[in-house]
Amino acid sequence: MNRGPIAEIDLSALQHNLSILRNITSEKPVIAVVKADAYGHGAVPVAQRLQDAGVAMLAVAFTGEARKLREGGIRVPILVLFDRGDMEDYFAFDLTPVIHDRRTALRLSNEAVSRGCRLPVHLKIDTGMGRVGLSADQAVSDVLSIVELPGVEIAGLMSHFSEADLADRSYAEKQIGIFQKIRQELSGRIGKAVICHMANSAASLSLPLEGFDAVRPGLLLYGYSPLETQCGLRPLMKLSTKVLAIRNLAAGSPVGYGRTFVTKKPSIIAVVPIGYADGFSRYFSNNGVMLVRGVRVPVVGRVCMDLTMIDVTGVDGAAEGDEVVVLGQQCGETISAAELAGRAGTIPYEILTSLGNMAKKEYIN
Ligand SMILES: *Cc1c(COP(=O)(O)O)cnc(C)c1O
Repeated sequence: MNRGPIAEIDLSALQHNLSILRNITSEKPVIAVVKADAYGHGAVPVAQRLQDAGVAMLAVAFTGEARKLREGGIRVPILVLFDRGDMEDYFAFDLTPVIHDRRTALRLSNEAVSRGCRLPVHLKIDTGMGRVGLSADQAVSDVLSIVELPGVEIAGLMSHFSEADLADRSYAEKQIGIFQKIRQELSGRIGKAVICHMANSAASLSLPLEGFDAVRPGLLLYGYSPLETQCGLRPLMKLSTKVLAIRNLAAGSPVGYGRTFVTKKPSIIAVVPIGYADGFSRYFSNNGVMLVRGVRVPVVGRVCMDLTMIDVTGVDGAAEGDEVVVLGQQCGETISAAELAGRAGTIPYEILTSLGNMAKKEYIN
């Protein structure tokens, strides 16, 4: 559903970020993560650009997302990270599931055999994330029993970092150690060459990755680094709307629900048609910023479902219909998803998915 805000998505920045990644990782094959509608950027156009740029594979969370990509004409291999047992789709749309347990492997194998085919799968090992995956202490025997299944073919082995974004690398290194040990014990016993991958954005940008065959980043493709340094990445998304109304309020006027803001002096308040229903968090109440005519202006009062008020007293000539930038650049000023995340007590991932998924998208090549 599209409401007022418009998200302009700059696909040339995607290309730029992919080049930065390829430089840093010495051209390792890329499994590009496009789950949650490409982190709010629109999965099909983003995937199309990534396909043109030659990524090895795409990764989504659920089969419904993969189906949308196939129906949108995407042909590169697609990894489905979080299996829910939607077996039909794996076969119908030529998808590669990630398997987390033997039971699912067996079920898939039986289905493949009954269809007279063999399904490539990637196996996930839990090396310390504590989410999904074969338990590390049983991984070797589990993998070896899955190798025996006639209907599945192990094409990849993977794991996931819990805290590769921290300056303290010790836990990430411990996870790598566990993964490599399992891999070594398996070497020569899985039959075919399998690709091993573990690195999300943070690890791709900061950890030595010898011993891995591919990287699996999401966030950095969209122009944000989970690390302290931005690494030269360029954000893709600009989110804007237009001033709905301008109010001239006397000193002492309350603004919005609960009168949490009261003007201290005669003020010009602009009403902006974006609210928490558009993914603009209520945590931005008396705490957010927006750009109008290149000036940073504060959110005043509580964010409503559809509307937010900003104080434009300091903006020369602010008028109804003026562009309001919620995320991105205007006349050299910038509001980044990292800044918004800091203000709302969350992470850029959540800012991008909440704002992007509700907005009408326009693409710039
Ligand atoms: C989301 C996800 C990624 C990508 O993580 P980023 O931090 O966005 O790079 C990689 N692997 C798995 C399993 C994921 O769920």
